[in-house]
Amino acid sequence: MKNIAFDYEFGIIGAGFGGLIAAIRLQKEGIFNFVLFERANAIGGTWRDNIYPGCACDVPSILYSIKDAPNPHWNNLFSSQSEILSYMHEVVAKHNLQEKIRLNCDIVDIAFDEESAIWHITNRAHETFKVKRVLLANGPLNRAVVPDIRGLHDFKGNYFHSNSWDSSIDLNEKKVGIIGTGASAIQIIPSIVNKVKSLHVFQRTPAWVLPRGDKRLSTFVQQIFERFPFVQKIVRSAFYWLLEFMGLAFIGNNLMYKLNEKMGLHHLRKQVKNVVTREKLTPKYKIGCKRVLRSDDYYPCFNRDNVYLNTNEIVSITDSGVITQANELIEVDVLIFATGFNAADIDFYMAIKGLHGESLTERWKQTGAEAYKSTLVQGFPNLYIMLGPNSGLGHNSVLHIMESQMEQVMAHYKHSSALQDSVMDVHPEAMKKYNIAIQSKFSDTVWASGCKSWYMNKNGKIIALFPRLSYAFRKVMKKFEANDYTIVKLKERNSL
Ligand code: NAP
Repeated sequence: MKNIAFDYEFGIIGAGFGGLIAAIRLQKEGIFNFVLFERANAIGGTWRDNIYPGCACDVPSILYSIKDAPNPHWNNLFSSQSEILSYMHEVVAKHNLQEKIRLNCDIVDIAFDEESAIWHITNRAHETFKVKRVLLANGPLNRAVVPDIRGLHDFKGNYFHSNSWDSSIDLNEKKVGIIGTGASAIQIIPSIVNKVKSLHVFQRTPAWVLPRGDKRLSTFVQQIFERFPFVQKIVRSAFYWLLEFMGLAFIGNNLMYKLNEKMGLHHLRKQVKNVVTREKLTPKYKIGCKRVLRSDDYYPCFNRDNVYLNTNEIVSITDSGVITQANELIEVDVLIFATGFNAADIDFYMAIKGLHGESLTERWKQTGAEAYKSTLVQGFPNLYIMLGPNSGLGHNSVLHIMESQMEQVMAHYKHSSALQDSVMDVHPEAMKKYNIAIQSKFSDTVWASGCKSWYMNKNGKIIALFPRLSYAFRKVMKKFEANDYTIVKLKERNSL
């Protein structure tokens, strides 16, 4: 019987929402021997990094909050980045997580030791921590994409990506260009349009945009939520099921699909006056195929005199601006890249080596990112991935997804924690079967209807989404199928 010392039962990588959800659940289960490694100097993940003007969540906060850490004091139905980040800090304080978090701890290497079944986690400062289980919660939306446009480095003005917003640059009375019209751009554009001299919006593909309907939550409502938490629970549940119902539009329900499409077209017609502009803003692909956006103030920007929608392909960038396919030079002082993230070619920016020293990155280069139930990977025992392959969604709260994943993590933990000379690994056949089933379920969804989205990897395989609604995901996560696992004996320890 092996008796190997380790520092922590769980090593959680990342102190964003994924890490906090994991930590709260572990504590709820009576597990306190864990640590959160955070590479930045503060918690918050994407809500710490994205500070662009207008940054907010397009999922109602009553849902976009941790189930076991309800907040009765949301000021609005949809919260701003700063309010969400404050909430995360409050959660850390309330759940006594400060002492568990190691800031400025950039993990670069995670390796499984086959003799001891201990994961060795090493940071950039060459410190190594021994943990029994690793939970990767470093998030899928942090590898910003700045397209490699010819001449970009010759540009004499300022340019930056939406997730590294440079607040030192004053946009007042500047000629600004923004590339991209996705979820970040549609929040940035209305927030800067009043101050800039001109705003050139470079659109490659128009987004489907639905009304957002933000509302202020009065003090009275907040007091009700505080005094009667069950009322907040009921409202949360009502929102959850409403969004699930709306999500039917994406998975083959024609009636809901038509309703969504009608709402999108009506919203555009109502908000954009100019017929030519409206036509340019009209998506030519199925609603939902790319992420549906929610805004009440994006479309009206195109009625303004200082906003120019440019749909010509960008060919190059010069020292003073952008050259498009129409051979025009659009001069700008500042260029904002709201060009998204590389989410589908999941790469953890750290070396992860499992059984037989196999590299997860190398495996996924061959197969595309794949996991069992989005959470475990065969050959990488006791390693869990928050928001792993095929776990995302486009219609509800991603926090619900991560909370669901913790069901599978805890079940695996409970079934494997007594093992001494072996580990519980996913069976290769179960892994294969699960992924074939997942991919086959996309055929009747909007996501496989022909558009190109960041949900897909470069081979067109949908990696970022679960092909059904989030309640179905939770059902899968809650079910522990022991036959899908195999017990792997540990290597004999070299006695020298
Ligand atoms: P995104 O939705 O992927 O949008 C990127 C935009 O840049 C698209 O319009 C894309 O056009 C365009 N683009 C990319 N490369 C280009 C190029 N070379 N030339 C011209 N245009 C180019 O990225 P994002 O807006 O940063 O949002 C990413 C995700 O973050 C969202 O989908 C969402 O999950 C999350 N997010 C959420 C919220 C929220 O409120 N919850 C807010 C912001 C972001 P194509 O469509 O043609 O590729």
